Amino acid sequence: SRAMDHLKALIRDVPDFPTKGILFKDITTLLKDADAFGEVIDRMASRYVDDEIDLVAAIESRGFIFGAPLAYELGLGFVPVRKLGKLPAETIEQEYTLEYGSNHLEMHVDAVQPGQRVLIVDDLLATGGTAKATAQLVERLGGIVHGFAFMVELTFLNGRSRLEGYDVFTLIQY
Ligand code: 5GP
Repeated sequence: SRAMDHLKALIRDVPDFPTKGILFKDITTLLKDADAFGEVIDRMASRYVDDEIDLVAAIESRGFIFGAPLAYELGLGFVPVRKLGKLPAETIEQEYTLEYGSNHLEMHVDAVQPGQRVLIVDDLLATGGTAKATAQLVERLGGIVHGFAFMVELTFLNGRSRLEGYDVFTLIQY
């Protein structure tokens, strides 16, 4: 939307990262701007301030940048969703497919209690594969996915269709 154009202007396009042909949205140029970073967190928090949520779960590693301050602002606990082999205690893992090959995400088995409502946070929604795998982890632990919050959405990759049936909130769309 027009109101978010000043935030959009702070996101840098990096061609051919991480591989040739990919136009990467580099958010570090927005993060280092105190007003912009604060506005993003405030806008996300105001979207959920009246909702009944128990936990914020964020996806390694850029999701942590948004998930932790959002959890703090909403007065909620924080749960990390990590790449394989990073979490120290007992975990469950979920495999998800990428364009080439597959990846795994993990959560601690005691991170979410049955019936708890979980808001899933990441920096950017592309194909939705990462977010969908996170929802599967939360649901396998008996949690309820309250919704998904992302700063950026790449609409041409149709991540929303992969997350059909869930509430999906994004601040900046391409
Ligand atoms: P998806 O699973 O939706 O295809 O990809 C989203 C995940 O990949 C997110 O965890 C996000 O951090 C990362 N990602 C994919 N493309 C980009 C990009 O252009 N910029 C940033 N910052 N992250 C990306």
